[in-house]
Amino acid sequence: MSRQDWTNDQNVAQYLQGIGLAEPEILKELRQQTADHRLAKMAISPSQAQFLMWLVKLINAKHYLELGVFTGYSSTAVGLTLPEDGTVTACDINKSFTDIAQQFWHKAGIDHKITLHLQPALFTLDELLEDGKINYYDLILIDADKPTTPQYYERCIKLLKIGGLIVIDNILLGGRILDNELKCSEDVPASINIMRQFNQNLHQDHRISPIALPMGDGTIILRKECD
Ligand code: CA
Repeated sequence: MSRQDWTNDQNVAQYLQGIGLAEPEILKELRQQTADHRLAKMAISPSQAQFLMWLVKLINAKHYLELGVFTGYSSTAVGLTLPEDGTVTACDINKSFTDIAQQFWHKAGIDHKITLHLQPALFTLDELLEDGKINYYDLILIDADKPTTPQYYERCIKLLKIGGLIVIDNILLGGRILDNELKCSEDVPASINIMRQFNQNLHQDHRISPIALPMGDGTIILRKECD
């Protein structure tokens, strides 16, 4: 699990977490249960989850869409915070990861709020658009396969309400976005160039107001201002 936020100063990170982080017991249990998984870093950090929970309260979110469930840390965090009639639309392709998520949704007593779509997220997003879920979601987390982020974003911005928020994790790609050697190399992985371009393009997108934060592996929050 991505336990740490993006900072070179571990003392600062520890101090800030010490005064600000309050991890619910069930999330702690989930984190500990999946800590040894070889892909554990795919989960968002505890402070990112807390931030999502805080955003839910701040904007009185009711409908949450998540791309990239993994073992359910973020969806459990948000599901616990949403009102009783709130909904989570969860997208992932991996059954073994989401089996763990489903155990924790049940244990947390929030499984009635959550619908899991076990297929490529682009299919689900297109289905949601066809179903008329336009301007429907209050909060969307995009944290799935990185090269598809621009395509996810274009669909999600339509599904998001005006005044709603899209949160995107890993905008720094573990720092590789800033690696000058990778800028010069011809062997740059596609995800790096795609995410560099995506990050740059956000400035020209009149539909959103962005704010980028050094949280997790770089987190950007986009508020939808207009269609
Ligand atoms: Ca992530």
